[in-house]
Amino acid sequence: MAKKQAAARFPLERVRNIGIMAHIDAGKTTTTEQILYYTGKQHRIGSVDEGNTTTDYLEQERKRGITIVAAPVTTWWTPTEGEQHRINIIDTPGHIDFTAEVERSLSVLDGAIGIFCGVAGVQAQSETVWRQATRYRVPRIAYVNKLDRSGASFYEALQDIENRLIGMTALPVQIPIGVEKEFKGVVDLLTMQAWTWEGGDPPPPPAKGPVPEELADEAALYREQLVERLADLDQEVANRFLEGQELDAATLRAALRRVTLALKAFPVLCGASFRQKGVQPLLDAICAYLPSPLDRPPVKGKRPKSKRGVKAAAEEADDWLEAERPPSATAPFCALAFKTISSPTSEMCYLRIYSGTSDGSDQLLNVRQNKKERLGKLYTVDANKKSEAESASAGDIVGVIGLRYTQTGDTLCDPDSPILLGAIAFPLPVVSMAVEPKTTSDRDKLNDAILHMAKDDPTFRVRQDAETGQTIISGMGELHLEIISDRLKVEWNVEAKIGKPRVSYKQTVRSRASAEHKVDMEVAGKRQFGHVVLEVAAQPGAPGGVQVEFDVDEATIPDELRLPIEDAIRSKASGIGDYGDPLIDVVVRVTGGSFHPTDSVEAAYSMAASRALDQAAEDAGLLSLEPVMTLTVQVPEDLFGTVLQDVQGRRGEILESTAVRDLRRIVASVPLAEMFGYASDIRSKTQGRADFTLEPRTYAIVPEGKRPKLF
Ligand code: GDP
Ligand code: MG
Repeated sequence: MAKKQAAARFPLERVRNIGIMAHIDAGKTTTTEQILYYTGKQHRIGSVDEGNTTTDYLEQERKRGITIVAAPVTTWWTPTEGEQHRINIIDTPGHIDFTAEVERSLSVLDGAIGIFCGVAGVQAQSETVWRQATRYRVPRIAYVNKLDRSGASFYEALQDIENRLIGMTALPVQIPIGVEKEFKGVVDLLTMQAWTWEGGDPPPPPAKGPVPEELADEAALYREQLVERLADLDQEVANRFLEGQELDAATLRAALRRVTLALKAFPVLCGASFRQKGVQPLLDAICAYLPSPLDRPPVKGKRPKSKRGVKAAAEEADDWLEAERPPSATAPFCALAFKTISSPTSEMCYLRIYSGTSDGSDQLLNVRQNKKERLGKLYTVDANKKSEAESASAGDIVGVIGLRYTQTGDTLCDPDSPILLGAIAFPLPVVSMAVEPKTTSDRDKLNDAILHMAKDDPTFRVRQDAETGQTIISGMGELHLEIISDRLKVEWNVEAKIGKPRVSYKQTVRSRASAEHKVDMEVAGKRQFGHVVLEVAAQPGAPGGVQVEFDVDEATIPDELRLPIEDAIRSKASGIGDYGDPLIDVVVRVTGGSFHPTDSVEAAYSMAASRALDQAAEDAGLLSLEPVMTLTVQVPEDLFGTVLQDVQGRRGEILESTAVRDLRRIVASVPLAEMFGYASDIRSKTQGRADFTLEPRTYAIVPEGKRPKLF
């Protein structure tokens, strides 16, 4: 492996790979733009409202003012206390339709900032992404934004954070100076200094001075609270506190870092990004409290047990052993391809490097596909502007162009030390619609565009309807598919007719049944023989929807025929019966068949397996399943009745209803089929005072008469 001089590398302990996450409109993009401005990455400040931000670079994002694609950006910051840091930022989307983007970025990040609106507090989607980050054990900072807006309150937002983001202690490290129109800056509770910002173009650096007299008591109180809470969480602070020693800023900062990295607590900061207030302390906090790649546990994966090589091991799950790699530039190379972005002219693949170093010239192994791959030129990623890097190592996020085999979720590693990193789990798409090219000349372009988009986005799927021949695309929600159809037009220049969004139904089997199919035919004078016996049974939670098992000896069905049989079963299971919906929660067990030494051919076994599955599924009886969502609505108390009634009218079932300050929070389970157009319905019923999220929950049997006709 080509290894660069270790001395030439930027020290890993000063690298931060962070994500910015929040409810839509909380100010993620605005804050990112401010960060890029202050870190000198760009000389003008992009504005979401004018549609010229750096991270929201897809046409659709600019038009809609929301963030869809997590575009990584690299930047540099020298904190007030300390040396220069390199910060790689991924602006994650807040809309739940793009949950795959959030999951994807969380899996490669080391730390995150949760941005909250100073007026609305913890909105439903913020809570959702916060929970996702907890699941991935990503240390966090909370930032209460928009304190300049009328109705903003740091203390109410903080209260909300304490009530709703449970499991970790909130540690405010600042309090605001003034609020709404009078918001001027913050008091840093560690140094007991006031930071204030004056407007101007370009904005002057913050002024630092003593705590304003009218805030002295409050600041002292909050500092005391901070020390007490830290003493509860950190032994060193506890000892000093008990001995009555003075706790200086450096001691508190170090303790805050320890408790943040241990996921015991998170620092809370505040500001108004749009008014350019509070951003520099936020950058300081990223460096001070969020982990470097070295602070993260070694990345975990699997390695092949035998010396027979990866391919042999890939066929037998038991041949894998647990493995891990330390975050070190001199360890064997391993990286996760966590996203690809295709356009009609190029294909960029983003890699998070967990260990080792590469200059792009060495042969790497794509473990899942067992293919050799070379990275070629390495790019550091400045949203849609690229710049070349000489080499990349542990902790880096880089882009590469034109990989031949690698797809989202694949591992690339040193061929001498193979490791397969844990794949990212994506939910099944729940909404479908038909797309048709406007003219026959658009057909090829449409197919090409859709295949590329499906490759970039694992929650976007495409299939051909067996009955009608239509192309059916599926995704995570109405907005998701709307944006895909817009992108077809704008980026790929394809004219297509788009059907109405529909629920993606699934099917399962009612009982157990077995079936047999024998293919024995002559093709071009040659006999082709294939014979499969299989059974189907319900198996709730079967991994990947359908589990395929072989309970048959080598003489009946030789090993080399298993893969084609399994492929045929999976392909049939992806669209079966009168409705052509995919099967889930099913096990298919191949129990018999026969083999002919000269006439057995793969194609005949594929056909036999497919026909046998069709028959077995019909005999077992197919049940339609519909996606059921978890709906969380937050409304003012006086609208509780209205929302409740509406939910019940949608076959909804209330799971939970709690009062949060003067708001009512309702959690319900509702079939997705009843939720189309909910955003505009609820807006008009509540005059826009409701806030909601919809997340996939489970699949349930469709009640009689509720399964609509085909597309
Ligand atoms: P995102 O959806 O989280 O990326 O949020 P954006 O950055 O797109 O911001 C949403 C809206 O809030 C835009 O109109 C911003 O101009 C506005 N905004 C963002 N930060 C602030 C702030 O600190 N104060 C005020 N008043 N508005 C803000
Ligand atoms: Mg945005």
